[in-house]
Amino acid sequence: MLSIADIDQRLSALGANPAHRQRVLRHWVQALPLSAGRRRLEDYLPLPVRQALPGLMDELHGLTRLIEQHPGDDGSARLLVGLQDGQTVESVLLPRDGLCVSSQVGCAVGCQFCMTGRDGLIRQVSSAEIVAQVALARRLRPVKKVVFMGMGEPSHNLEAVMEAIELLGTAGNIGHKNLVFSTVGDPRAFDRLSRGPVKPALALSLHTTKPDLRRQLLPRAPRLSPAEIVEAGERYARDSGYPIQYQWTLLEGVNDGDDELEGIVALLKGKYGVLNMIPYNSVPELPFLRPDWDKARDIARRLHQRGILTKLRDSAGQDVDGGCGQLRARAIAGD
Ligand code: SF4
Repeated sequence: MLSIADIDQRLSALGANPAHRQRVLRHWVQALPLSAGRRRLEDYLPLPVRQALPGLMDELHGLTRLIEQHPGDDGSARLLVGLQDGQTVESVLLPRDGLCVSSQVGCAVGCQFCMTGRDGLIRQVSSAEIVAQVALARRLRPVKKVVFMGMGEPSHNLEAVMEAIELLGTAGNIGHKNLVFSTVGDPRAFDRLSRGPVKPALALSLHTTKPDLRRQLLPRAPRLSPAEIVEAGERYARDSGYPIQYQWTLLEGVNDGDDELEGIVALLKGKYGVLNMIPYNSVPELPFLRPDWDKARDIARRLHQRGILTKLRDSAGQDVDGGCGQLRARAIAGD
């Protein structure tokens, strides 16, 4: 699978210097025509690179192809994206120029409420395939924010995700705080994110304040307690200067009780973060239910009153087939 480092090496072997390489990569990830700008891209490049350019661009744009597009009422659109070996991933165009990308085909964490987790990890998505999801989306509409919340656990494909983040935050022209690395809380990610030249914002999937329930809901997540996750998140927030986005999938009768509300206040009060509450999208294949919207709104209001900055969000694209992994599952099932 092609990585960004491979592309760099190929360009270097053709005589491209770092500035040439950045120009070529910028044209790819920003989906610019080769003739964009005052002068054509070719005018800047050594002859061997110029000669290889059309073939290289075809190859890079061919890393992903749009199989299906399902627009939602809220300005989002769910994309089923084909990879060169016939595997598929999902990307979601989000309202306000956002894009959610996938970092793995399948996922090993096995969250009980997630379709992607059901089949385990199938394969990693390469750094170039991650960036190619952005380039593909940019041929449909502008992308100014990229969240790594699609299929897969980014910490389990850490170097590829960081390579993609570094390119998106430089040649990709995306503000660093608009690159959002999302994880269930993996100690390797906390270390690595702080060391990179592009520091993304961080989203941490909490879902419960109870260690036992967390082990049940996220059976193969690292054995960090919710308190340890918040502690590590707080360190990263202070280090990066961006608030942590704590994610909470609200499941009827599972994590929507008063005990959890008290737990959230105890864990997050005074922390540099925001709690994103996302009522679950029920799917026939899984046993969890979506709490009604009024109840969710009441929980968010009560948390606000207790000093927890809480945003109640509907998961984008809900009306176009629900949570992540469903389009792929249905495409495989032939529905
Ligand atoms: Fe993996 Fe995310 Fe699904 Fe959990 S919710 S199984 S981490 S893709």
